Amino acid sequence: MEILRLPALSDNYIFLLCDRDSQTAAVVDPATAKPVLAALDRLNVKLVAIFNTHHHSDHVGGNRELLKHFPEAVVYGGSEDKGRIPGQQQYLREGDRVQFAGRIADVFFVPGHTRAHIAYYFPPNQPGQPGELFCGDTLFAGGCGRLFEGTPAQMVTSLTKLRTLPDNTQVWCAHEYTLKNLKFALTVDPENPDLQQRYQQVQKSRQNDEATVPSLLATEKQTNPFLRWESPTIQAAMGSKDPVQTFGRLRGKKDMF
Ligand SMILES: [Zn+2]
Repeated sequence: MEILRLPALSDNYIFLLCDRDSQTAAVVDPATAKPVLAALDRLNVKLVAIFNTHHHSDHVGGNRELLKHFPEAVVYGGSEDKGRIPGQQQYLREGDRVQFAGRIADVFFVPGHTRAHIAYYFPPNQPGQPGELFCGDTLFAGGCGRLFEGTPAQMVTSLTKLRTLPDNTQVWCAHEYTLKNLKFALTVDPENPDLQQRYQQVQKSRQNDEATVPSLLATEKQTNPFLRWESPTIQAAMGSKDPVQTFGRLRGKKDMF
């Protein structure tokens, strides 16, 4: 399974999963159809699945148009998103599995950004290889999604599920927000050397117009304050020793940043 990253709208990423052997593809969160159709055409592959993480238009905006061209493609989304994802046919819950290219992905229910958000995790197909996590707007490189329909407690539970995956997991989040996220992270965790180093790297990448997605889960655990609600430094900065309260205050502060 090859993974292609297609930039869309102002800062979205659409991910195209491609299986050259069977000449099929699946797409994760098609914000728009155009770049997907162009890539499918270029690669000469047929779209068989649309994996949506949540109902926001910059994640499902391309569904209808893609279905016009590939009416047999199956549209997957969370069971709680029923009625909100165009063309949805499969209603996934925690523990469900989906298949593509001989790989099986686990579905995680990760509410917080929205009440129905799910994530897809493809475990490694060979020992030593990384797993691939498609987490939509739940976990970002250096940050996390806003809480539009969920509570800090829900988001902490959701992020805990993702944080528990192997360190070498590749995190394919849906937006290029990394630089701004790390700028914020430095305001609450300024002495973290891993964070300082990552900020320098990301600054360079962005100056060269390079994508910072995917990132490594190990890096997120070291530098992303939204996975570090147990860190004494972050807790001190937020004036709380309670993980959920620490997370909630952190999210509130970021909303104003
Ligand atoms: Zn969203």
